[in-house]
Amino acid sequence: MNCLICGSPFQSAPTWKSLILYEIQPNACTRCLIKFQKTDHAIDFSDFQGTVYEGMVDEVTGLYTYNAAMKNYLHQYKFMQDVALSQVFAEQLRHVFNQTEGIIVPIPMHPEKKRIRTFAQVDELLKSAGIPFQHLLTKIATSEQGKKSRKERLEASTLFEVIGKVEAKTYILFDDIYTTGATIHQAGKALKDLGATKVEAITLIKG
Ligand SMILES: [Zn+2]
Repeated sequence: MNCLICGSPFQSAPTWKSLILYEIQPNACTRCLIKFQKTDHAIDFSDFQGTVYEGMVDEVTGLYTYNAAMKNYLHQYKFMQDVALSQVFAEQLRHVFNQTEGIIVPIPMHPEKKRIRTFAQVDELLKSAGIPFQHLLTKIATSEQGKKSRKERLEASTLFEVIGKVEAKTYILFDDIYTTGATIHQAGKALKDLGATKVEAITLIKG
């Protein structure tokens, strides 16, 4: 098959391990995959202490660093609308989510943005990995985050509205990238305000 990232042909022979464990076959070549740098550790979000978002998120894990390879990947995936690229991290995501217990809630796109981008990139990452999720949030405001200060972003009107039933359970938010943390914290607050016991978050990238 051909590598989804560079297009070069590569061998993807099934191994005994992949047959027994039903692993997803790699769909990018080793030369491309090796350029992504795993971090796999907890993200520090102590900068939210003392704000209304304190305690709204219990744990955030970022899986990869935002290096040059990841920047290229994200550009190709999001802006060039290459939906096949959602498969590149399928095995890794499945591995990580298999170790969690909770209701997985992807961070939604604003409907208008989804129309422009043609597909919901965050949802597609989960779908490619066969991870079940629930749409509990809808995005009601577009955030021109780059133009605002951190304080302005935090005080800005709510980004999300809850569209399903929130119970006293653990929820795991999923997003592509953690940059300022404002998105994750706004989503966490929306769920906890309605009774969620615990809110964790996993992001593909730590920005
Ligand atoms: Zn490649």
